[in-house]
Amino acid sequence: MEYEVVIGMEVHVELKTESKVWCGCPTRFGSPPNTQTCPVCLGLPGSLPVLNRKALEHTINVGLALDCTISSFSKFDRKNYFYPDLPKNYQISQYDKPFACDGKLPILIDGKRRDIRIRRAHLEEDTGKLIHLDDGTSGIDYNRSGVPLLEIVSEPDMRSPEETAEYLTRLKTLLEYLEVSDCNMEEGSMRCEANVSVRKKGEELREYVEIKNVASINGVRRALEFERERQVKLWESGGTLHRETRRWDPENQKTSPMRSKEAAHDYRYFPEPDLVPTVISKKWIEEIRKKLPELPFDRQMRCMSDFRLSEYDSGVLIMDKRIADYYDDCVKLHDNYKGVCNWLTCDIMRYMNANKLSVDEIRISPKMLTGMVRMIDSGKISSKIGKMLVEEMLANGGDPEKIVEEKGWVQISDEGAIDEIIKKVLAKNPEQVEAYRSGKTKVVGWLVGQVMKETKGKANPKIVNQKLMERLTEQ
Ligand code: ZN
Ligand code: MN
Repeated sequence: MEYEVVIGMEVHVELKTESKVWCGCPTRFGSPPNTQTCPVCLGLPGSLPVLNRKALEHTINVGLALDCTISSFSKFDRKNYFYPDLPKNYQISQYDKPFACDGKLPILIDGKRRDIRIRRAHLEEDTGKLIHLDDGTSGIDYNRSGVPLLEIVSEPDMRSPEETAEYLTRLKTLLEYLEVSDCNMEEGSMRCEANVSVRKKGEELREYVEIKNVASINGVRRALEFERERQVKLWESGGTLHRETRRWDPENQKTSPMRSKEAAHDYRYFPEPDLVPTVISKKWIEEIRKKLPELPFDRQMRCMSDFRLSEYDSGVLIMDKRIADYYDDCVKLHDNYKGVCNWLTCDIMRYMNANKLSVDEIRISPKMLTGMVRMIDSGKISSKIGKMLVEEMLANGGDPEKIVEEKGWVQISDEGAIDEIIKKVLAKNPEQVEAYRSGKTKVVGWLVGQVMKETKGKANPKIVNQKLMERLTEQ
């Protein structure tokens, strides 16, 4: 493979604020069209914008978490273009003095850390939304107009669609940890655009293509896979890559041309005269820095070193901050790190996903979960019973110790009692015993199953195996 794909990402996220970035209109999603507007966000003449302090605070927050330099002096600029969803015919954005620049986001690829460089993060306003109706008419909803929007631009550091998906997942998790956006891609509060170019290895970048309108991280990965192949074919056939914007079509799983890409000078940027430059004090930056939570990447590193979890396990745990917090609470109560992680990431998360619940909505608390794991570890119950116990606690709550007593789920570890049951099972199944003795050792598993069935899953499997082998091998 002499070709290499070079990918950079532009991610827009709507910031979680009560009111819009220049006016006091609410930002709620899903309200009836044009019920959250005022002269400012409708771009009426004579109205003036005022910067939302919370939006700026979120921006600095993200900038710091991405290890960026925060500009002490910054300003806004007008980005001019004409489109019906943009009432002023310009978007207030930032051109040459973004609030944050030169950062990085670490990702893990096959256990190795790689830093994706962040070029900049700047604050701007969202546009309205065009709604095309079935009867052929179109309407405009300005509720979204003026919602604070943070644009995060990476350097072209990604070298595969998988790496890009990893970058986006990590970025989304980071933003969720910071609680600056709900990052709901379906509702459009997180939107990804990819710049992608295939080059011959060792050659300079020629032109790149921009892919827009992808509604999921998986969609981005697929669009990039398609685009990589398309561009390789283009080079092979002697074609030329044109700078253009392409749209991802999820139904047909391909990208198609949308328009030729504007250059920066087409936007005729100039300083926004209605807003004063923004001066951010060192003191405020340090206050925000002090309040940063433990970041997901650091948290994963801690899970791997302190709890000896694998890259995969720790990756699953840290994806949702609430689950990571739950796990931390658990391991304070019981130090079977791997055991607790398995129950949490397999049985409990499966239940959460199936029932669309978050970890603070389930009936099983860290104390209950660790109580159960401790019973397995001490041999009081089998892990098979553990599964039933978790199901019972998820459905009805309750104290694990009490449930085990009430249901008579205590594990049978009495060797004599188990031996009696084995004798019964063997007497009932002489063909299987004969099969074993003639070399078909696979029947052991089946026989163990019969003993477990006989004891309703309560027999200690280690003792069952040991006693069964004794009986089978005796003359
Ligand atoms: Zn408004
Ligand atoms: Mn933008």
